[in-house]
Amino acid sequence: MHAKEATRFRKHYNALLDLLLPQQCPLCRRFCFYHGLCADCWQGLVFITPPSCQCCGRPLAYAIGDNLCGSCFAEAPPLAEMRSCFLYNDRSRQLILKFKHGDALHLNPLFARLLKPHFTALAESDHLIVPIPLHAKRYLHRRFNQSAELARLLCQQNETGIFAPETLKRPKAGPTQAGLSRSQRQRNLAGAFAVPQNQRHRIANRPVLLIDDVMTTGATLYEAARTLHRAGSGPIRGLVLARVLRHGL
Ligand SMILES: [Zn+2]
Ligand SMILES: [Zn+2]
Repeated sequence: MHAKEATRFRKHYNALLDLLLPQQCPLCRRFCFYHGLCADCWQGLVFITPPSCQCCGRPLAYAIGDNLCGSCFAEAPPLAEMRSCFLYNDRSRQLILKFKHGDALHLNPLFARLLKPHFTALAESDHLIVPIPLHAKRYLHRRFNQSAELARLLCQQNETGIFAPETLKRPKAGPTQAGLSRSQRQRNLAGAFAVPQNQRHRIANRPVLLIDDVMTTGATLYEAARTLHRAGSGPIRGLVLARVLRHGL
């Protein structure tokens, strides 16, 4: 059997197994007949649908002329466009925490499927797809960067974009961002990212799509984008699984 046929066969075989064998919902462990969440858990996710800010993707209560939210109108963010799949609530937090700590890699295909429409709208074949890196210490501890796994799978499945996890490094092992305000986060992150010398020719004028799991205040994505811009990249977009929604962002 040719390699292509073997892959096709394996795909059909796995699809058949999925139909025949019940799977467990990764959140409540209830059985469901699909790789994903059960109907109850699914309902707890709040997907972001139009109208949303055409720049940062924040959901808007109603469509307005230029579809810009107040903060993007007041000051254009360093990313040309940002999109997120769902709101960060109790349900999505549970899911993402599982994924983050590496014990639920099987969530990766589910997330990739949910992000697919946004990814294919934002990424083109010559774009660099860059996951937000963890700093070395945290990576050594976890041995797993959930954003990189997601970015890799998105490129593979959609056959677009160039997976480029080496574009950004995180040399500074800063304190954790949890519990900090937006301006504290921004200060905390100054100089957090770097573009290695040997990557500079690669990013010159090249569009970049940043991938992360959660956007809290936007400070991490913004700092990464500023670092890439300073190193000479083209326009930068961002895609995250979930975003925190609060006043002022
Ligand atoms: Zn469930
Ligand atoms: Zn906005």
